[in-house]
Amino acid sequence: MVTGPVLILLGPPGAGKGTQARLLHERYGLVQLSTGELLRAAVAAGTEAGQKAKVAMEAGALVSDEIVLAILADRLVGPDLGQGIILDGFPRTAAQARALDALLETRGRRIAAAISLEVDDSAMVERISGRSACAACGEGYHDSFKPPRKPGVCDSCGGTAFMRRADDRAALVTSRLTAYHSETEPLIGYYREREVLHAVDAMAEIAAIAGALGQIAQDAIARGGKEWPAAKAGLTGEPN
Ligand code: AMP
Repeated sequence: MVTGPVLILLGPPGAGKGTQARLLHERYGLVQLSTGELLRAAVAAGTEAGQKAKVAMEAGALVSDEIVLAILADRLVGPDLGQGIILDGFPRTAAQARALDALLETRGRRIAAAISLEVDDSAMVERISGRSACAACGEGYHDSFKPPRKPGVCDSCGGTAFMRRADDRAALVTSRLTAYHSETEPLIGYYREREVLHAVDAMAEIAAIAGALGQIAQDAIARGGKEWPAAKAGLTGEPN
């Protein structure tokens, strides 16, 4: 079970949650837990949960709380989470947020920071439909914004096979954005009330966003996952 700080990344599909979680992992050793990745692995493995999840994922809808919570609970007992975790794509519903709080509370823990990546919906379709990733190491790319330095060759591992997610087709992006606005966006208020919300402009450059998130992460690590002091609220990149 996780003993370090627990950070959450909120934001619509295409906001850059995966990219930023990966950078936080590289820089601070936080373990990136993506429920989307865990679900895609379950689908690929053909487990019972994976088969059920596949139907919702192919429709651009949310997978049931029951399945997502079971998959995440299995992962949270991993022995590798001591440095702390960055949850990418979880929670996505109020029920998931409450379940996470309840789970942490049993260990006397709280969320260290919930970071909302704020973006314009209109830019998300272009961002998502250009995405790809190296099939070997998972490094993310974008046709327009971040192509590999040498065309067709992964910058990180030299791999030459690239994948595109099935649900990144433009036709599904609108459904995924709708699910975000109706189910997940209300969590911004939930975490603001708990004084752990940090709103970050995610239309900025990747490096600038990473800088803002790095400060939040460093602070959370320094506090060892304890509650954010109320006196710090209100500053940019801090709870508001
Ligand atoms: P992502 O990789 O985070 O964009 O997730 C891909 C898809 O997996 C989503 O469109 C949902 O169908 C499903 N999914 C991922 N995380 C969750 C979650 N926390 N709750 C419900 N569905 C999820």
